[in-house]
Amino acid sequence: MSPKKFTVLVIPEGSHHVRRFAFKRCWLVATVVFGVVFLAGVGLLGWDYCRINLDRGELGRLRVENRTQQGDLRRLTANLEGLRQDLMVLSQNDAKVRVMAKLGKPKIDGLAGVGGPPEEDPANEFSALQHQVDEIMQAIDLRRASQEEISGILNDERSLLGAKPKGWPTRGWKTSGFGMRKSPFTGRPKMHEGLDIAARTGTSVSATADGIVSQAETAPGYGKLVVIDHGYGFKTFYGHNSKIHVKVGQRVKRGDRIASVGSTGSSTGSHVHYEVRRNNVPLNPKKYL
Ligand SMILES: [Zn+2]
Repeated sequence: MSPKKFTVLVIPEGSHHVRRFAFKRCWLVATVVFGVVFLAGVGLLGWDYCRINLDRGELGRLRVENRTQQGDLRRLTANLEGLRQDLMVLSQNDAKVRVMAKLGKPKIDGLAGVGGPPEEDPANEFSALQHQVDEIMQAIDLRRASQEEISGILNDERSLLGAKPKGWPTRGWKTSGFGMRKSPFTGRPKMHEGLDIAARTGTSVSATADGIVSQAETAPGYGKLVVIDHGYGFKTFYGHNSKIHVKVGQRVKRGDRIASVGSTGSSTGSHVHYEVRRNNVPLNPKKYL
């Protein structure tokens, strides 16, 4: 059985008086409990204080970082605005080139009415920034598509220009033009589908446009014949050659030597019979000289 009361004796040094303090057990228990709770409270407060001190340092650092980042964000917004202005200029140049290339307006223009001063709320500022980036990316895609369209058209025009027969196939003089004439063989009127250019045998015959050799052989009437396919429906014929210098399938450029002047086939003298056809319809070569 535990005691109900405790007595504490206090004997001061050099004195004979003994002091007695009597406690009830419940008081002692209460004191111990209170002490434990008090110490725990003090410990918690101390720990919290340390943590707040640590956080304060972190907070200061975060504030500085936040300010820096806000500055960065503003600079970025300003840069984007500059980029947007540059793109506007590009877009205007693009429009001019499109007019020159006889092209219509691109489907949509992504840069109309975007931009403005940076927002105050960082969240809004960020979403505005994101919006600007999206707009610029869209505008770049549009410009890219437009440039591809323009360069496609220009390439087409360049190859059409290269495909259109131009100039004389040989150095010589015209002896017979395109149209109805009396056949030198039968004496009857006959359609002459080309141009006859007289020249010394062996003189170079050259391609009048870029293309691919589609015939290089002896053909009835034509003698040694070279036909070049230029694309876009254009073909040129070079007849009566003495020699052929190209092979079927060979790619030739305007001015390349393809044959030598001769008098093979139905011919009365050394000359080139030159034909220009579009979609197999003979055209007057005079218009392509
Ligand atoms: Zn002829």
